[in-house]
Amino acid sequence: MSNTKYVFVTGGVTSSLGKGIIAASLAKLLQVRGFSVTIQKLDPYINIDPGTLNPYEHGECYVTDDGAETDLDLGHYERFLNIPTSQANNVTTGRIYQSVIEKERKGEFLGKTVQVIPHITDEIKHRIKILGNTGDFDIVITEIGGTVGDIESLPYVESVRQLLWELGKENAIVIHLTLIPYLAAAGELKTKPTQHSVKTLMQSGINPDVLVCRTEHEISEDIKRKLALFCNVKTEDVIQSIDASTIYDVPNLMFEEGLDTVVLNKLQLCSEKQPQLTAWNNFLDKYKNPKSIVEIGLIGKYVELQDSYKSISEALNHASASNETKVNVRWIHSEDLTSGNIAEHLKGLNGILVAPGFGDRGIEGKIKAVQYARENNIPFFGICLGMQMAVVEFSRNVLGYKDASSTEMNENCAHPVINLMEDQKDVTKKGGTMRLGAWDCEISKESNVFKAYNKTMISERHRHRYEFNNEYLEQLRANGMKTTGVNPKTKLVEIVEISNHPWFVGVQYHPEYKSTVLNPHPLFVDFVKATLQHSK
Ligand code: GLN
Repeated sequence: MSNTKYVFVTGGVTSSLGKGIIAASLAKLLQVRGFSVTIQKLDPYINIDPGTLNPYEHGECYVTDDGAETDLDLGHYERFLNIPTSQANNVTTGRIYQSVIEKERKGEFLGKTVQVIPHITDEIKHRIKILGNTGDFDIVITEIGGTVGDIESLPYVESVRQLLWELGKENAIVIHLTLIPYLAAAGELKTKPTQHSVKTLMQSGINPDVLVCRTEHEISEDIKRKLALFCNVKTEDVIQSIDASTIYDVPNLMFEEGLDTVVLNKLQLCSEKQPQLTAWNNFLDKYKNPKSIVEIGLIGKYVELQDSYKSISEALNHASASNETKVNVRWIHSEDLTSGNIAEHLKGLNGILVAPGFGDRGIEGKIKAVQYARENNIPFFGICLGMQMAVVEFSRNVLGYKDASSTEMNENCAHPVINLMEDQKDVTKKGGTMRLGAWDCEISKESNVFKAYNKTMISERHRHRYEFNNEYLEQLRANGMKTTGVNPKTKLVEIVEISNHPWFVGVQYHPEYKSTVLNPHPLFVDFVKATLQHSK
């Protein structure tokens, strides 16, 4: 029996209120007070994981060390807490039903009718308690995806109700995140939607312990009192969460509002320590007071929804603070580069980042962006598909293999410089079958990447099916493309660079997943440094 305490975060009124950021900010405050904390996300959709979702649906798919394809909120958890998450931190309805149905087929419920209550709710409760039962955490924060009242959230809300009852008041609490809209015509903040969403929660048998109220304007004491009266909480349990200029301000704002104190009191946890956000605030200080400015072009095919590249843009933010340089990102659609004047589109950029992706839409635009960066000595960073397209571009325009390609885009090309990994050839199922999670890479000392990492052995996260084709290794090397990072066991190429270029790095892995506020990723830091030099 562990002593872990549980905090559940539910959402009301609308989606997109930033439950993930509130959960991460609270966790950060509890962490700097000396508690070990982790955060879990329960997603009510029926996909087993978001790996098969188009980024337009839910934004980026975030990947953990153990190779789980997860919700992008796990990226926030890691960036805020600076500790890794794993598959156990993200559970979907699909996964819950999958395990219940597997058990049913094995005969584990023999003779019984399998039902939402208790079988599905038991499985949900089991998944919630897995993290607590490791004994590694004083506090587990569980974010319930969706909005209360949604049909698909009901089994989760019911599981929370049961757990509150089983664990007792001092061991488990509910924070309800809600919206206090401002009606410009009336010049007023309105509490009614919150009253209704709390009522909905109470119909499910849950009385929230804390209300966190998202708002564009200061919430007066009067409004707090009104919310308290209607929603069964004390005035001090009504926490204002006002719009911030950056998500990284939210821990400080929550501290000023006393969210951590309210939570600790309810959980009967003592903390003599005041939260020390010194390192965090050093980051914020540098982030908000840049001394220079650079512009980086992010070339991708999902740029209309910037959440598709969440970890990349946050890694750039971390690197921006390290370099005390403001990074302006110019979001460029790869399809816009397939024809017309490329130089016009890319004019004035200090760096070009070609993003990860799948399929051939906009691919020729990505290749042209690589060529432009290579020929004009503009710092270039290619990530996953971006690295693969750097190899294709070099093969076409330097080796002269005009139809060089990846077999993902052209299965029958004469020069498949990127092709399917051997162990992918027989894979037919799409879900969870890519090369996923942490893999080692050995770095050669004569390289820009060594200067950035300052070590020769690294481990980075992967999510791809296609690879650098080693049959072309010698030719590429002889012509100036260096392979400066290789997997020591499989000899698969992980990193390419180009001689005679100030900073041209393509990586087969996703460095963005490992960048955090306190540990900005060295490659992003070095890339931004190179763009700064370019700007001068
Ligand atoms: N589509 C490429 C592959 O599967 C690249 C994937 C990515 O960019 N994450 O190998």
